Amino acid sequence: MIIVVKKDCDKKQLDNLIGWVKKQGLGVDVSVGESSIVLGLIGDTPRVDIDLVRSMDIVESVKRIQEPYKSANRKFHPEDTIIDVGGHKFGGNHFQFIAGPCSVESEEQVVGIAKAVKAAGATLLRGGAYKPRTSPYSFQGMGERGLELLKIARQETGLPIVTEIMSERHIDQFRDIDVVQIGARDMQNFQLLKEVGKMDKPILLKRGLANTIEEWLMSAEYIMSEGNKKIILCERGIRTFEPMTRNTLDLSAIPLLKELTHLPVIVDPSHASGISRLVEPMSLAAAGAGAGGLMIEVHNDPAHALCDGPQALRPEQFEQVVNKVKNILPLVDKVYD
Ligand code: PEP
Ligand code: MN
Repeated sequence: MIIVVKKDCDKKQLDNLIGWVKKQGLGVDVSVGESSIVLGLIGDTPRVDIDLVRSMDIVESVKRIQEPYKSANRKFHPEDTIIDVGGHKFGGNHFQFIAGPCSVESEEQVVGIAKAVKAAGATLLRGGAYKPRTSPYSFQGMGERGLELLKIARQETGLPIVTEIMSERHIDQFRDIDVVQIGARDMQNFQLLKEVGKMDKPILLKRGLANTIEEWLMSAEYIMSEGNKKIILCERGIRTFEPMTRNTLDLSAIPLLKELTHLPVIVDPSHASGISRLVEPMSLAAAGAGAGGLMIEVHNDPAHALCDGPQALRPEQFEQVVNKVKNILPLVDKVYD
């Protein structure tokens, strides 16, 4: 349920209303917009006497929310959520480039790539330390040592780091990571979602391989219900009947999500296509569709990458993507900062 309160209302009346809502055992999310204040009510709202609320002086309107996602719902929070990561903003009209290797392989590799992607225009560094591989015999990532190497790369370049968590047992290792990624395979690992929901840290939530937009938003809801509202959604392609690409990039999810949620949405064209030569056109398409950023895999030596070499760009190819995407941003009212 949402209660729209008149913007010029008396502060005391507003506090009384919020107090009254809380007394009914409900949670309340207060969103202050340009012309009104929206109170989003969470919990057993069918019990609330809607006519009583409607009759209050300061109340403009009351609506029940049909969708199962509440905190993530645009109706709860009409303004875009803006998430600041080390001075780089996600959401609203901001646009970011996250780039780096699929997995951290050595200090030399990750620091070298970090410097190269920064020079090319990246604003954040990505790199996997814990890797969710289909085969248990494939490289599983460097683990905790990989996280240390990412921090060295951050120190060398100033780029905030984005890396994937695969187990709630590792939460303590991620306290000093700038953005914690939940990978596609873990989008419905509800225990993990609840635990990262208790962190005070931006969470990059990738769409599951075969999940609907509503299921994806419900996973964001899991994180938000624990208190963490800083979620960046990342469309990374879904599995379809088409085998020529690794996944099928669902571009229409971007403008649709903008209607459904206030959370920032970015796109990963690397996992979405699985083919390095498709990364540039898919990046341009994603920016044109209104994405708030791109996450792109970049490797200094794709042919010898320990993971996902076929989809990795070399730094100079990444730079070309950045420059072309930058030309599109003014057309979609986005700024690269
Ligand atoms: C990744 O970003 O390294 C990754 C494993 O991606 P996804 O979870 O989208 O497959
Ligand atoms: Mn990868």
